[in-house]
Amino acid sequence: MFIVPEGEIAGLIGEDAAYQAVEGVFAAMAREEAYNFPVVREAIGYADALYGFKSGFDRAGLVLGLKSGGYWPGNAEKGLTNHQSTVVLFDPDTGRPQALVGGNLLTALRTAAASAVSINHLARKDAKVLGMIGAGHQSAFQMRAAVRQRSFEKVVGWNLHPEMLVRLEETATELGLPFEAVKLDHLGAEADVIVSITSSFAPILMADQVRPGTHIACMGTDTKGKQEVEAALLAGATVFTDELAQSVSIGEAQHAVAEGLIAEGDITEIGRVIIGAHPGRRSEDEVTLFDGTGVGLQDLAAAAAALRLAQEKGVALEVEV
Ligand code: NAD
Repeated sequence: MFIVPEGEIAGLIGEDAAYQAVEGVFAAMAREEAYNFPVVREAIGYADALYGFKSGFDRAGLVLGLKSGGYWPGNAEKGLTNHQSTVVLFDPDTGRPQALVGGNLLTALRTAAASAVSINHLARKDAKVLGMIGAGHQSAFQMRAAVRQRSFEKVVGWNLHPEMLVRLEETATELGLPFEAVKLDHLGAEADVIVSITSSFAPILMADQVRPGTHIACMGTDTKGKQEVEAALLAGATVFTDELAQSVSIGEAQHAVAEGLIAEGDITEIGRVIIGAHPGRRSEDEVTLFDGTGVGLQDLAAAAAALRLAQEKGVALEVEV
């Protein structure tokens, strides 16, 4: 089998390759050629850690495997990332292990790629202002991927912890865009596309703060109880997601569905838009909302791309198991 170390990932895969991998696997899901297996996520009663697996099989791309990892809150003190992920790929013909791929950077790239796919397929073509809610580790990746999809001229941002906004300012500067820290009312009034990527458990953005025609990518809500936007916002929007089952159980839609504001049948998997089975945005005034919950197939697709590139560049280590 091959090992692709975490330290090699940055030199192998960037926003474009991650975008291609994620868009491709969302399309495969819509064609029912790829599916995710049930997610396992447990508090293990040690080191305050949350540990679990996301797995699946892409029959079209012949990618089988799992991402294992979770959240270790004490890691920062040890100089390590709190979120830890490793992808294991298996040969779908034999079940033999094919590759062990560092999954930390891949997670950020595949998550940002998902919102970028939603922006490409759902945002108005003339979108000019990008609004960022959240300024944590993922936010910089989200911004870098988002700006590749439209000719943005400005970034506006809000974060609960204002001292973290410097990350958004530095990333916008790196991308050659002006940045303004704003209040949420201002953000909603100015942004054409809004990306939210926080650990919030209560709505941050309210329905009346969003103007017609906005596209919102809600990327932070990936667990039961988390919430970034008011449930009423989903009721007034056309709602898309990566995977319906996750959207209504651990995604942003869990609240609107539980409150009876929308039904499962109101939510469209974005793969259907990618393959042309759903038109996506129907008017310039429509609010579109992407509930990006994060599926295992995204990780596997990104890891398979990284493995291919590592083999081409000769940086994949081969070991016998
Ligand atoms: P981080 O810890 O680096 O940053 C957390 C962010 O959330 C910061 O902006 C912080 O100010 C904000 N925040 C914290 N508590 C808040 C609260 N109570 N209300 C509002 N904002 C709050 O985390 P990160 O790595 O940037 O990840 C952000 C979120 O994205 C996490 O919740 C993570 O689980 C989620 N995530 C989702 C996916 C996916 O595929 N959907 C993938 C990776 C991460």
